[in-house]
Formats: sequence, structure tokens, C-alpha cells
Amino acid sequence: MRLANFFRSKLGSLVAVVGVTVLSVAITIGIYETVRFWKNKEYLEELNQKLLVRAELAADYAIITLNETAEAGYTTCTDASMGGLAETIFTKSNIKDIAILDTQGNSVCSVISGQRSTYPVDISQKNKFPTSNDRINFVEVGTGSDGIIGITWQFADFGLMALINIDTLLFDIFPMDWRDNSIASIGFNSDALIGTHDSTMTADFMNDPSKEFVSYQAQSTRYPLNTQLVVELQQLVMHNREDENFFIAGGGILGLLFGLLIAQLLARPENPITEIKRGIEADEFVPYVQPLFDLKDLKIIGGEALMRWRKPDGTMVPPSHFINLAEDSGLIVPMTRSIIKQTLNHVDDILIRDRSLKVSFNITPQDLMSDGFIMDLTSIVSDSRVKPEQIVLEITERQEIKDEHKAAGVVESLKSLGYRIALDDTGTGHNGLSYIQDLNADIMKIDKKFVDFISDDGGTEIVQMLVQLAKRMKMQTIAEGIETETQARILNELGVDQGQGYYVAKPLEPEEFCMQVRKQALK
Ligand code: C2E
Ligand code: CA
Ligand code: CA
Repeated sequence: MRLANFFRSKLGSLVAVVGVTVLSVAITIGIYETVRFWKNKEYLEELNQKLLVRAELAADYAIITLNETAEAGYTTCTDASMGGLAETIFTKSNIKDIAILDTQGNSVCSVISGQRSTYPVDISQKNKFPTSNDRINFVEVGTGSDGIIGITWQFADFGLMALINIDTLLFDIFPMDWRDNSIASIGFNSDALIGTHDSTMTADFMNDPSKEFVSYQAQSTRYPLNTQLVVELQQLVMHNREDENFFIAGGGILGLLFGLLIAQLLARPENPITEIKRGIEADEFVPYVQPLFDLKDLKIIGGEALMRWRKPDGTMVPPSHFINLAEDSGLIVPMTRSIIKQTLNHVDDILIRDRSLKVSFNITPQDLMSDGFIMDLTSIVSDSRVKPEQIVLEITERQEIKDEHKAAGVVESLKSLGYRIALDDTGTGHNGLSYIQDLNADIMKIDKKFVDFISDDGGTEIVQMLVQLAKRMKMQTIAEGIETETQARILNELGVDQGQGYYVAKPLEPEEFCMQVRKQALK
């Protein structure tokens, strides 16, 4: 009774407010720390998956090279054959050497270790790791820390071995603040190490009982390769930690707003999916168009339609805020059709005037699987008088396609109607080479993540690999997220065909996009 009176007094309510504020500061910090730690762990796991995909791509690439070598007939120890191999090695940066093997799998000669001399690595004594193809084996030829893998391919009357270096895949895998006291490694199945990222972490440090570590491992389903990332717990905890005072202050303010917020939340019955549905009905989802340009002369050769949510108050909401929900709920299906229709309404004039111009749309697996997709697309496109050959359908590598067989059939029909198919976000998904091959796409879009690494100091290894894979599959390449002149120049030198990025233009309102194209035509 006396306590209740106390809280009714001025001092009492002050104490109550301070109490709630302090409590909410503590809760805010607690929640913030927990969520951040959990996110950092998830991030580490994701990096590990990426490392595995990189290693698999490097192996795919070596196997393709061995096949090309055999087809070119560089399979003996003659000068001509060695000359051909030397050129191959020279042009493929992560292939260090190619050896010719006899029918027993013993090496006879190799490019780097000298013509016709016996290769110093006696591979009969080395551990071999089989793959699903019984003629292809991975061989432990390196020291366990030099990043070298041998990949052998036994043909009827000879064999070939490529030595590849996976060191370069490791060094940039961690964000800056995790590069100390961390380990990134790639190994064969049995945990025989191939290479590690060189960190300052010593055995002493790792054996220190007061330290804790968080680690993730991943095993390739296609090759005898596994990856592991280890980061000291303390570093994992510290990652992305903003100024704590800021959070205490933030928590305080939050505390004061807490009651209000709850009231507001309770007063807001609409759930986000209902809100998207309402947005669809009110035609609030509109396209922006980002120019795509030729990397040789930076001329605009087309554009990609990117969705925006124009709220009634005029604010523009980017797709990161709603696209996942739209995809998960299936609402994306009508939205995609609407975006295609609206975009073509805006750009049909310039596309009819210049038949070399193209426009791309993001297509999800749900779209491909939806009833009547091909029919609806055909009717929208023929209404616009834009040709199917001017339309690119971007299919992302990020999402899994549940019924790959059916999807491949739809894609094939679309191709036969003249539509062009692009593989979006290449290198970021978990699908690897076989998926890229199955889809039989015309264009490979190299993700911004790989473009970000590029500078005059390097960072081009993965892009180089993707460009050569694309060439091999007769695909055009487009690099996304080009922000600097340097990136544009280097990507052009690497043989990438087209670019997209803030360096030339951000996503524009469709009218603005058309104006830019018209301006260019007048030049
Ligand atoms: P995306 O298909 O990879 O599109 C490229 C994204 O990179 C766009 O983001 C674009 O604005 C951004 N970007 C391009 N150049 C640069 C650059 O130089 N720097 C930076 N920082 N960013 C750059 P946006 O518009 O936010 O779209 C994000 C993603 O949302 C798209 O990634 C795509 O996956 C999805 N999306 C957008 N529109 C649609 C749509 O109509 N349908 C579907 N299903 N997905 C869409
Ligand atoms: Ca895209
Ligand atoms: Ca992308």
C-alpha cells in the first residue's frame, strides 16, 4: 500500500521512469549483443560456404583445362607439346604446372620441372582422393601449406595432371578485423591440409586454455575438398560493434519510447503481406531502370528493370525491404508481370527505334513455375512490339530451384522463342558449374561482391576464372556494381563484355533512362 503511494508521488514516478529506462538500456544492450553475435556466427558460416564454392570453381576450371589440353593433343613430351602446355599455363593464372603421365599414372615430364626430365613428384607415393568420375583423382602433391593440389585425369593411353594453386582464394575471405587470430583452410576429405590463410595465430595461441574459438567446416559434395574457418570468439563478438555509449544512449531513448512503441504496434493490425497486397492493388510497385553499358566505350546498350515501392507519401522503398516477403508469399508472380508490362510501356519507343538495345528483368523460380508464364510474357511482349531477342530474363543463382527439370524445360522454351537468359549473381550461390551448364544461359552476370575486390593491386583472380568459364560456355559477361574508373578499366582488360554500376549510372526513373539513351543517339 505504501509502495503504491510512493509511485504516485513525483519522486516515485521519477524513480519508475529511471528504472524502466535503465532496465531497457540493459535489455537493449543484451538483445543487441545476442543478435549481433548470432549474426556474426551466421556470417562466418556463410563465408565458409563461399570459400568452398571458390575452391570447387578452381577445381572445375582445372578439369576443363585438362580436357582442353587432351583435345589439343598436348599429351607427349615433345617440344611442340611442351610448348603448347607452356602457353596454357601462362594464360591460366592459377594453374601452376601440367604434367604428362603414363598409363600407370606416373609422371613422365612436365612443363615447369623441365622437358622430358622426370617430374620430381613421384605421385605413386602420394595420397590420392577419388572423385565421382573414376578417371579423375585429386592428389596430395603439396606440402600441406603451399596451397597446391594435383588433379589427375587418366585417359586410355596417357594421363594428365594439373597443379593448381588455391592460395589466392584464401587471403581475402575474412573481413579486415578477422584477419588476425583466425584460420581459413582448404583440405582434402581426410583433413589432409592443402593450404591455410596466413594469420598471426600460433599454435601457442590456439592451445591457450583461456581462449575460445568458433569454427565452421564444409564438405564439397562434388569433390574431395573441405573448408574450415576458425575465428577467436572474442573477435567474433567484437565484429560490427558500434560505439557502446551510442547504444546506451540509444537504449535510454528506446526505453522512453518503449511504451509508445508498444501502443503503436498494438494499434497497427496490418501485417506486411497485407500491406504488399494493398500496394499491388494501388499500383505502388514501379520499375526503375539501370543502364547497362559496353565496357569498351561506356555506351549504354540497354537497362535492367529494378523494382521500387513508391509509398503514398512519396518515399521509395528498395527491394531489400520487401522482395523476400513477396517471393516467399508468392505475391512476386503478379508483381513480375506488372513490372515487365510497365517497363515496356516506358521503353518501347527507344527499343523499337534501336533494335540492338536490350532490357532485362529479374525472374524468380516461382515465376518460371507459375501457370501460363510463357503465354503471359508472349502477350505482354507482342503488345509492345519489342522483340523477344531484346529481352533478357535474369535468373538468380542465389535461390534454389526446386523442380530443376521443369525449370530447365521452361527456360528452353523461352530460348527457342528468342528470349535471352542471364545467370544473375554468379559465384555467390551454392550451385557451381553443373548448374551453370544445365541452365544453358546466354549471359553470365558477375556479382558485385567480386567486383568490389578489384583494384590496381589485384583482386582479379575470381573474375578471371569466371570470364574464362563463360568464354568456354560461349556466354557473354556482365559485371555488376562497377563504382570506379579503375574497376571499369580492369574489367575491360580482363575481357568482360559489359558493365552495370554507379560509375556510369544509378537506377533511374524510366523517363530519365529513355532521355539518356536518346541523348546518346544524338551524339
Ligand atoms: P540484382 O538483380 O543483383 O540488381 C543489382 C543491384 O545492385 C540493384 O539493387 C542495383 O541498384 C545495385 N547496384 C548496381 N550498381 C551498383 C553500384 O555501382 N553500387 C552499388 N552499391 N549498388 C549497385 P536494388 O535495385 O536494390 O535491387 C536489389 C535486388 O533486388 C536485385 O539484385 C534483385 O535481386 C532484386 N530485385 C530488384 N528488382 C526486382 C524485380 O523486379 N523482381 C525480382 N524478383 N527481384 C528484383
Ligand atoms: Ca538482376
Ligand atoms: Ca547481382
